[in-house]
Amino acid sequence: MRSTAKRDPETYKTIKVPMWVYANAKEAELAILRKGVDRLPHAVLQPKSCPICKSELSQAQTDDENPKSYLTCLHCGYTQPKFEGSTEGIALGTTIGMGLVHLLNTLFGAGKQQTEVGTG
Ligand SMILES: [Zn+2]
Repeated sequence: MRSTAKRDPETYKTIKVPMWVYANAKEAELAILRKGVDRLPHAVLQPKSCPICKSELSQAQTDDENPKSYLTCLHCGYTQPKFEGSTEGIALGTTIGMGLVHLLNTLFGAGKQQTEVGTG
């Protein structure tokens, strides 16, 4: 077996969230299952560059019997799966993950800067 220094992205962690977060996550999961992921931006589904440091992302695979494809940043360690067009295998964790990728894109994005209003 190959030993890798990096963390297995398929390891599961337990987190505790307030009910409103859970309810919103379930709602988003249902919406993805119903509507698919076509409306999500390319930068979320299959980005070419790291949303955080903008380095080019590399392809990586898990080591198990059913290897899963990941995109990973060799510079800062950012990792996410490549979300294919299908909603197969979409679960609550995936939905939350997609939401967080979206959030990171927004927070680190080169989008319009909001001008503050009313501060003189
Ligand atoms: Zn990075």
